[in-house]
Amino acid sequence: ELTQRYEIKTLHYTEIVALENDSVLIRSKMAPVISGKTPDSYDYIFDIDNKYAFRTHTETQNKIILRQMSGIAVASLIILALLIFSYIYLMRTILKQKTLEEIKRDFTNNMTHELKTPISVAYAANDVLLNYSSEKNESRRKDYLYIIKEQLQHLSGLVEQILSMSRDEQKEISLKIESINLRSLCRQLISEYRLKTEKPTEFTLAITDSFSINADRIHFYNILSNLIDNSLKYSGPSVHISISAKKENKKTIIEVIDNGNGIKKEQQERIFDKFYRVPTGNIHDIKGYGLGLYYIKRLIETHNGKITVISEYGKGSKFIIEWTL
Ligand code: ADP
Repeated sequence: ELTQRYEIKTLHYTEIVALENDSVLIRSKMAPVISGKTPDSYDYIFDIDNKYAFRTHTETQNKIILRQMSGIAVASLIILALLIFSYIYLMRTILKQKTLEEIKRDFTNNMTHELKTPISVAYAANDVLLNYSSEKNESRRKDYLYIIKEQLQHLSGLVEQILSMSRDEQKEISLKIESINLRSLCRQLISEYRLKTEKPTEFTLAITDSFSINADRIHFYNILSNLIDNSLKYSGPSVHISISAKKENKKTIIEVIDNGNGIKKEQQERIFDKFYRVPTGNIHDIKGYGLGLYYIKRLIETHNGKITVISEYGKGSKFIIEWTL
């Protein structure tokens, strides 16, 4: 009754004890047997001789405080977790935005650089024609006009490239799967690149004669062509490119390995991103839009395949294609 009146909610037990020998005379119902005085018991002596006392046992204070605070504590923990989570999410979004911004800027720089060259060449040639209209030499006039035409063609080619890029983006890639002899496809590619490149290049082809693979011929050709092209582009004055293929429990593993520039660890995961190019400062000696590997990855994934890279900066790179078709 008293506990109700004073709203005491703490668990407690009362007993009447004889103080002389600390023996319990009466104990409240349900009380666990606790003998003697403890730090959490309180004595109230009620007789004149100091012989008898009421003794109340309560829970320890810490326990009470913890129990009363448990709601707040749990809530705080949840809020803390939420806060940390949102902070990390925010930071990641900001970082992503920043890199996107950088990529966009690099792309614009690249693009302007590429577009500016033909424009300024055509401009200069046109200027010559305008300022020296008295030029009697017909063949030189023609030369200039041809230069202008060539540059304009190059320019329209660039524009067409950009347009087709955005068109390809929207289009679903359609596949025409057939069995391809990988060795002969690679040999064809290698002989084409031997003609195209002036760089001393050594090719190694480790594919058996009748090795075949199911794929869309044109797409697969583009995939390998892009990889070889990159190995040639991102390497020193000479390069060794090796292409190999093997079957490994139902999968085909194709590897294109070069001893070129290599890619730093932190950039490796990003090279497959759209428009991503490894930053080279203000030097634009190697042309590209950072779309090659993005395109390859997309193609390989439409074939249910996978592409990964292992690379060491300054030593070379290895592109691994896992093919399941
Ligand atoms: P692009 O060649 O047009 O820049 P890619 O998507 O083909 O675009 O390549 C992205 C980036 O990956 C390149 O800028 C280059 O720095 C790096 N890279 C690709 N292939 C190689 C390679 N074989 N060796 C070294 N770096 C490479």
